[in-house]
Amino acid sequence: NLTLSNKVAFVQGGSRGIGAAIVKRLVREGATVAFTYVSSPDKAQALVTEVEAKGGRALAIQADSSDTPALQQAIRIAAETFGRLDILVNNAGVLAMGPVEEFKLEDLDRTLAVNVRSVFVATQEAVRFMGEGGRIITIGSTNADRMPFAGGAVYAMSKSAIVGLTKGLSRDLGPRGITVNNVQPGPVDTDMNPANGDFAEALKGLMALPRYGKDEEIASFVAYLAGPEAGYITGASLTIDGGFSA
Ligand code: NDP
Repeated sequence: NLTLSNKVAFVQGGSRGIGAAIVKRLVREGATVAFTYVSSPDKAQALVTEVEAKGGRALAIQADSSDTPALQQAIRIAAETFGRLDILVNNAGVLAMGPVEEFKLEDLDRTLAVNVRSVFVATQEAVRFMGEGGRIITIGSTNADRMPFAGGAVYAMSKSAIVGLTKGLSRDLGPRGITVNNVQPGPVDTDMNPANGDFAEALKGLMALPRYGKDEEIASFVAYLAGPEAGYITGASLTIDGGFSA
């Protein structure tokens, strides 16, 4: 018996990296998954093809998470196409680094729009369709707790905002039997943070386990939180970071 049979999930930002791994894992657990993308239509289509080849169901929708009507419409399309909505995963995220003296205010606004505002907007729209047992999971970052370099203030702020948003939303939605949680990864090998990139050695030096995480390791944790066994976990920020913050 699959843990997510008959469940419908919506993943913001599913075409690459951690989001694509989450799409694949939720499908493997039996869910039907709609996901959004912006600049990677080929990767999004390839992911749908891969899911369908394995007998699963996925739908790719182009929608920028900072475009409120587009994001709301994507969630409605998913719920109407598949008849229900059980799981929302807020994975879309951007990383802009730079010293405070030079940091562009457009990058500040973009970071807050994609990493924070879209989480609230998507939650507000998704809960119109969700019933008892619903799940809202956001991909935050261990940088909410530890930002050991200069230049990451805005990113850290955006991920810290998710800690408070998760706590508050869990109070709003608990009476409806919907859980709200924040998964905080450490360094994971993706386009955003390649394991062979300039930062990699410095990051590994800060970790209890001196290696990058795999996107599948984050997806596995998300699948657990989305499943029936995690029904008593809510309002929590749960770190999966190889001991980066230890
Ligand atoms: P990537 O940059 O590798 O992939 C980002 C994904 O999000 C892509 O599918 C991209 O789609 C999508 N996306 C980006 N911006 C938007 C947007 N405005 N609207 C909709 N979709 C969007 O990132 P990761 O997989 O590394 O990161 C995923 C999440 O995990 C982010 O929230 C990130 O902050 C967080 N995280 C990552 C860590 C890491 O070390 N990698 C560590 C801790 C947290 P497309 O290509 O189609 O535009």
